[in-house]
Amino acid sequence: MENIMSEMTEKTNAKITLDNLRISFGDIEVVKGVSFNVAPGECFGIVGESGSGKSTILRALVGLYPFWRGEMIIGGDPQLPIRQKRFYRRVQMVFQDPYGSLHPRQTIDRILSEPLIVHGFLNIEKRISDALSEVGLPQSVRFRFPHQLSGGQRQRVAIARALISEPEILLLDEPTSALDVSVQAEILNLLTDLRERRKLTYILVSHNLAVVTHLCTRIGVMIGGEMVELLSADDLRAGRVTHPHTAELRSLS
Ligand code: ADP
Ligand code: MG
Repeated sequence: MENIMSEMTEKTNAKITLDNLRISFGDIEVVKGVSFNVAPGECFGIVGESGSGKSTILRALVGLYPFWRGEMIIGGDPQLPIRQKRFYRRVQMVFQDPYGSLHPRQTIDRILSEPLIVHGFLNIEKRISDALSEVGLPQSVRFRFPHQLSGGQRQRVAIARALISEPEILLLDEPTSALDVSVQAEILNLLTDLRERRKLTYILVSHNLAVVTHLCTRIGVMIGGEMVELLSADDLRAGRVTHPHTAELRSLS
């Protein structure tokens, strides 16, 4: 009971605060002072043209960069330059490139067991089998390699891998962009169900405004490393936008 309570308290604390985040590669600043908050259980969307810094923000949140300025607070704890196992479990990411999440030379079974071993979970067999069912995959995929699956199945495995260590926050980088339209809808439905069932906090990056407005309540618009507008999904859908770049993104989609 005590465990359950502490888990729940932790979950309700799954909020994210970014304050004036700056990230440079060499002399080039690619994230230029981005600030936003995400409430526990909220889905926050980030849209913007290619190269505007969306993926860099997500990679920074999962602790992949040892260098940044500003502040990232996740569930009350500041993210630190050294990647911490604790954050690694609490904040998981589904990468834009499927092979960012799935090693091409590992079976699905191995891919799903790795985070369980790293974080010291027991009952690995059962957890893998439950995770596959939860994302709607048959148990038979366990001994296949990623290239032996369809794009939609691969994305389901990437989502299962992110969820298997029971994170509170899921960062989704273009989760439907590489998929056929019909498969996109299936993955969106899966993400909607999972968020409700697991009470997850999402940050969803996509260049597809329909995808973002479908899942998210608030949306930040990026251009050239800056978040130039922050608006509600309703305002974006209805065209109540203030920045010309947001209007341009709407007209292009
Ligand atoms: P987006 O996801 O919005 O398309 P990214 O966040 O991937 O954009 O990249 C933002 C910019 O930062 C791009 O110009 C990209 O080339 C650059 N960039 C990203 N990662 C690195 C890196 N590790 N080294 C140098 N430049 C990088
Ligand atoms: Mg990207």
